[in-house]
Amino acid sequence: MRNRAPSPDVVVVGSGAGGGPMMKRLAELGLNVLVLERGAAVPREDDNWNVGKVFKERKYSPFELWKDRNGKTFRPSSWHNVGGSTKFFGTVMMRLRERDFEAVEHAEGLSPAWPFPYAELEPYYVEAEHLFGVHGNPSSDPWEPTRSAPLPYGSVGSEPYVARIEQRLRARGLHPFPLPVAVDLHPGGKCVRCGTCDGFPCAVGGKNDAETRCVEPALKSGRVELWIGAFVRRLLLAGDGRTINAVEVEHQGNIKTVSAGIFVLSAGAVNSALILMRSATGSFPNGLANSTDIVGRHYMTHNLTTMMAVSTRENPTKFQKTLAFNDFYDGEPGYPFPMGNVQALGKLQSGMLVAGAKYVPQIISRALTKRSFDILTMSEDLPSADNRVMLRNGDVHILVQANNLKSHRRLNKRVKEILGDIGFPLVLAKTLPVNFTAAQCGTVRIGLDPTHSALDPYCRSWDHPNLFVVDASFMPTSAATNPSLTIAAQSLRVARHIARVDFGDRDGR
Ligand SMILES: Cc1cc2nc3c(=O)[nH]c(=O)nc-3n(C[C@H](O)[C@H](O)[C@H](O)COP(=O)(O)OP(=O)(O)OC[C@H]3O[C@@H](n4cnc5c(N)ncnc54)[C@H](O)[C@@H]3O)c2cc1C
Ligand code: SF4
Repeated sequence: MRNRAPSPDVVVVGSGAGGGPMMKRLAELGLNVLVLERGAAVPREDDNWNVGKVFKERKYSPFELWKDRNGKTFRPSSWHNVGGSTKFFGTVMMRLRERDFEAVEHAEGLSPAWPFPYAELEPYYVEAEHLFGVHGNPSSDPWEPTRSAPLPYGSVGSEPYVARIEQRLRARGLHPFPLPVAVDLHPGGKCVRCGTCDGFPCAVGGKNDAETRCVEPALKSGRVELWIGAFVRRLLLAGDGRTINAVEVEHQGNIKTVSAGIFVLSAGAVNSALILMRSATGSFPNGLANSTDIVGRHYMTHNLTTMMAVSTRENPTKFQKTLAFNDFYDGEPGYPFPMGNVQALGKLQSGMLVAGAKYVPQIISRALTKRSFDILTMSEDLPSADNRVMLRNGDVHILVQANNLKSHRRLNKRVKEILGDIGFPLVLAKTLPVNFTAAQCGTVRIGLDPTHSALDPYCRSWDHPNLFVVDASFMPTSAATNPSLTIAAQSLRVARHIARVDFGDRDGR
């Protein structure tokens, strides 16, 4: 079968938060890259901002069914398109805290240390923040880790309704700060500050996602070729039984094999694990990169609760994601265990996920969403080896039991009290089920010990020297902040490592 990209240096599978920065940086470092992306570009059209089309009909979401631990099928929150999940993400790009890289005792177990400290990733956080054009003012968060450079853009500013909530939180002794968001919202930018950002694609290209910030500029470099509609089935081993020789990909109705020097899987935490499992051979019956039976295990997805805080007053805010607080990130007096982050959600509208009021008649849900301030509480879930992704007879199983809920419930209780104190007598809350897969991570973890990890600290497979896995799956812990900035920063770090170690830094940069 003819290979349209004659001997790329690197094949990258997937074009989201991991694959996007990877392809762009490799091209900047002088390498030729072929990107295999299962989906196509999301069209920019009126439906992008149509609640019914996006949330009810799920127009942009592939129809697939996975099974949970009880064997019940569910439709996962997944998107297969250029830019991956970042086309729909809520644009929050926040660093993990320094302590998140260390071993931390939680109420219900240990969150293990990363194989490198925060300081190792810090320069790449700076690069990732510039790559994604992040806005914010992190110095106003007392829990912000040390940084060597400011964000490229200042805060987008809160609309008056949210600014009033900020003042009330401050008066109550809390430390709200502007959520760091990746939107093109500054003079000359494309963002028009609409009310449909979180969970929607952007109809005007104003969201700084992996397509607009990575794929599009990478394609202009002339060093990157993108195949869309290219579903990677498996990796193929060379005769030495260690090196990856090729990927097998379904593309334009054909099954093709594509060879390269280096292979980078960035297909997302579930799909990268599945590709490795589908690549099983007689010598590797559990799949590739999996000699220690790690792949698919330690699946995490955060403990998440959405809340609608309702008052009698209407909330006219369009772009609500301008407020967060970390006052309970490390616990609270008398409770020395991490509880988590609290952040504003995109403005909920009738017809979207409406916290605890999903089955309420439309007229009531419209009245509630008109008067609600909407938030998300996020706590760390712990990497249990029993929480895992499996492939059985071709079916995808997500066998997960939620853990570390005690601290999450405590955080929710505290947040409800605070909301009550600042003028919201009614708070509707819904804890998202573990089969909400938007924040999936941890299935192909990095580590220092090859017997307890699948990848080294640069995301290189311990088993296969020319294979890297760089997406949410490398994360050894989930922490309690949004993952995409950390994925992008590690991707930039790994890209530099590949250029230097595997290609001798061809352009000398
Ligand atoms: C609605 C929503 C809101 C979110 N909000 C935020 C937020 O505000 N902040 C934040 O940090 N995170 C947010 N997230 C999570 C964030 O988007 C993900 O953590 C991040 O995109 C994961 O990056 P990834 O590279 O692992 O996977 P993705 O970005 O999903 O990329 C994976 C890519 O691989 C492709 N692919 C999969 N399988 C194959 C295959 N077999 N062959 C070829 N290609 C394949 C997919 O099509 C996709 O393009 C949100 C997610 C969702 C869904
Ligand atoms: S808020 Fe801005 S970036 Fe987000 S969808 Fe609307 S226009 Fe696009």
